[in-house]
Amino acid sequence: MSETSAIAFGEKLLALLGTGSFTTSYKYALLLAMLDAVVEETHPDGTPPEHLSGRDLGRRVFALYWRQARPYTERGPLRQSRQRDLVVKIAELRERLGVSAHEPLDVVRRKRPADIVQLEQEVVATVMRYPIVLLQRFGTGSSAIDDRFIYDVTWDDGVSPAQVQRAGFDDRLRLVDGAASHLAALNGLIRPVIEREWLLHVARRNEGDVDELRLEAFLFGSERSSLAALRQPLLEMQQGRCFYCRGERGPWEVDHFLPWARWPDDRLDNLVLADRRCNNDKRAALPALTHLERWWQRTLPDTDGDRNLALVAERLQWPRRPERTAAGARGLYRYQPPGTMLWAGTGRVEAFDPRQLEGVFVGLRLAAEPRPGYGES
Ligand SMILES: [Zn+2]
Repeated sequence: MSETSAIAFGEKLLALLGTGSFTTSYKYALLLAMLDAVVEETHPDGTPPEHLSGRDLGRRVFALYWRQARPYTERGPLRQSRQRDLVVKIAELRERLGVSAHEPLDVVRRKRPADIVQLEQEVVATVMRYPIVLLQRFGTGSSAIDDRFIYDVTWDDGVSPAQVQRAGFDDRLRLVDGAASHLAALNGLIRPVIEREWLLHVARRNEGDVDELRLEAFLFGSERSSLAALRQPLLEMQQGRCFYCRGERGPWEVDHFLPWARWPDDRLDNLVLADRRCNNDKRAALPALTHLERWWQRTLPDTDGDRNLALVAERLQWPRRPERTAAGARGLYRYQPPGTMLWAGTGRVEAFDPRQLEGVFVGLRLAAEPRPGYGES
């Protein structure tokens, strides 16, 4: 990747955020979903994906809003558009199903699959029809320009929900050469900018009700309170020691091994127990390769780590998708440029050497899961 073209790509993305005819927050949701998907869909040898599934992006968008549709004040969820929007529909569905606003989507899906799928399909159809088709439009009205610098698709904004759901429908976004690697490489820089724009969008529609720091944590933070349930089981798995420094003293905190700010993944395989000192020092940095190696071993199929995680997931009904989390890890590390400072321990960093990655990523179970999207009914 040439530096100039990455910068030019980044500039266009920034321009997208400030333009277009969007009156809803779908644009931001789609961009975040694309960042996640590109990292996760990176091939095992490190080559970027050639296409993304529109249906998969739609499902990711649904998952993003699922969290945001929690009540913000006693008056309920925050408004994200002028119409009766997705956030309202999710809140209504939860009420009808009698599930708490803090239950993760994966958990509710297991209990009431048909109800979830129905709303999800509606969202997928909307995402395919509007944000995916209109995202790369600069300006508004008759002077708008379509510049498909990220992807191209075969459908337009006339596509119907029935067409989108048809088994043979080609839902692929064909990524323009270089776009996937630009997105993945710029992930750490672009993500906070998109989140900021989304936050301002919501703040403007809920004047008087919002405090920015609280709003940021509400929209994009992880659900810290529910993570507490994992402290004891993880402590047992780690024989009473901090995952990073092996200290035995605590106080204990559940840590996202792959930092939440780069890859928002609350599923069990991404969670480790750390003492507060390590957790506070690590923050949004990627852990050094020695940590990565131990963590990676834990998610390999048919190991003690894997069996223990499976038991915890079963007992606490905590979502687990080891192959997805592993793919995310691979994608995140694959795109780090040499020399990136990885977090090694309190006050210690280590310059990243990509050649050392090869020995780490072995035994992955990616083959166990079909890739989502294309041709799927
Ligand atoms: Zn520690």
